[in-house]
Amino acid sequence: ASLPELDARISVCRACPRLVRWREDVAVGKRAAYAAQPYWGRPIAGFGADAPQVLVVGLAPAAHGANRTGRVFTGDRSGDWLFASLHRVGLANQPTSVDADDDLVLVGTRIVATVRCAPPQNKPTTDERTRCAPWLDRELALVAPSLRTVVALGSIGWDAALGAFRGAGWGVPRPKPRFGHGAEAMITTPHGELLLLGCYHPSQQNTFTGRLTEPMLDDVLGRAAARMSP
Ligand code: SF4
Repeated sequence: ASLPELDARISVCRACPRLVRWREDVAVGKRAAYAAQPYWGRPIAGFGADAPQVLVVGLAPAAHGANRTGRVFTGDRSGDWLFASLHRVGLANQPTSVDADDDLVLVGTRIVATVRCAPPQNKPTTDERTRCAPWLDRELALVAPSLRTVVALGSIGWDAALGAFRGAGWGVPRPKPRFGHGAEAMITTPHGELLLLGCYHPSQQNTFTGRLTEPMLDDVLGRAAARMSP
């Protein structure tokens, strides 16, 4: 399979009844500010480089963010933080991500969600996370040869990444590496050493409270950028 084939398969997945209902209800109900816009209302594929050196693993699409625009992290506050930081550290051509036609290009970087459909209250269930995990496994297999760093946003992204590494048969340290902002784990893959980096999720819960600051986000994404080969 290729990435476009995988994207096409993901975009029609209906494996989680609760999330299918929610993503479609939100797309019909809309938020007043976006009433004139069509909503995507479907699962969100990965976005960015086809042969990335950096893979950013997020949590799940926001109801009025990616579930509206159809592109991961695009059109919500978390994305505002993420893309601004990616731009500051040289991994994006522009600091903003407004909609899927805004000419954003990521530099050697790809972004995926752990759960591909918007969940109510941004909280997927354990079953939903388990059901969606094979999509990450497949995407990881396709991009693994070029990959040098995985940045996991939040503990759910961290656990999802470790699960995908184990599923691929890669060497994950024991005991299980603990998530934290700036935490690191070195993973042995058939393609070489891969660094897993932990990063607090740029959700409003973290950015409004000062738990995550711009310098903290730049520090982790900058470390990923510094590992890129020319
Ligand atoms: Fe399919 Fe994942 Fe969406 Fe569930 S969350 S319906 S597994 S794409």
